[in-house]
Amino acid sequence: MIQNMSEKKVEIAEIFSSLQGEGPRLGEKHLFVRFPACNLHCHYCDEMGHEPVEMDMETLLEKIRAADRQHGPHSFLSLTGGEPLLYTGVIRQMASTLRPEGFKFYLETSGFLVKALDEVLDCVDSISMDVKLPSVTHDRDCLEEHSAFLKASQGKELHVKIVVSTGISREEFFKAVQMIHEINPATPLVLQPITVGGEKYIDNRLFDILTELQSAALGWLENVRIIPRLHKVLGVK
Ligand code: SF4
Repeated sequence: MIQNMSEKKVEIAEIFSSLQGEGPRLGEKHLFVRFPACNLHCHYCDEMGHEPVEMDMETLLEKIRAADRQHGPHSFLSLTGGEPLLYTGVIRQMASTLRPEGFKFYLETSGFLVKALDEVLDCVDSISMDVKLPSVTHDRDCLEEHSAFLKASQGKELHVKIVVSTGISREEFFKAVQMIHEINPATPLVLQPITVGGEKYIDNRLFDILTELQSAALGWLENVRIIPRLHKVLGVK
């Protein structure tokens, strides 16, 4: 359910400072605001299960400012989840106050709620969008929605992330690469080895698949990188 701006209370799973563990901004210091709900059920998900805390908007804003004062400076305020785009009203309210104070907004999204994206596109400075492949997530095919989302995101700093497992379908992968190529072949693509639970390292078989997919995708896209989740490698939050 999408929360709207008139709601007085917001549910937040956690607010924390850490390094950005994924994608091209790997290693930057980010202040994360995690939203609790998601409308997908990726079988490898390790981001759910945080008990949400209900608070009013002023309290949320003050907690963000306090965390930034204590742990900053941060490169970005990262909206993560769950799926932040289920909270567009909250994001707009946060952005209207915090962006004039100097916060830049980084949106981490599963990349298929295009109507919700339209509602907050002017509030975000950088987008990390997933392309979810059913052979990896064991959930539904979202390719058409991903395509619409990627088109709507053009003009923003953006990268696409595909999680790769040993069970990945080459057919699904190449459809996704072709879709990205047709919209913008300069879009950076990150191949992220799957992590399940506390797993820290990838095995040789998965690494071979990642390099095979990278080589093939580089025939279609200009920038394809293999980037594991740094916070899992380091064993930090
Ligand atoms: S989209 Fe992200 S938060 Fe939602 S189930 Fe998948 S991995 Fe978890």
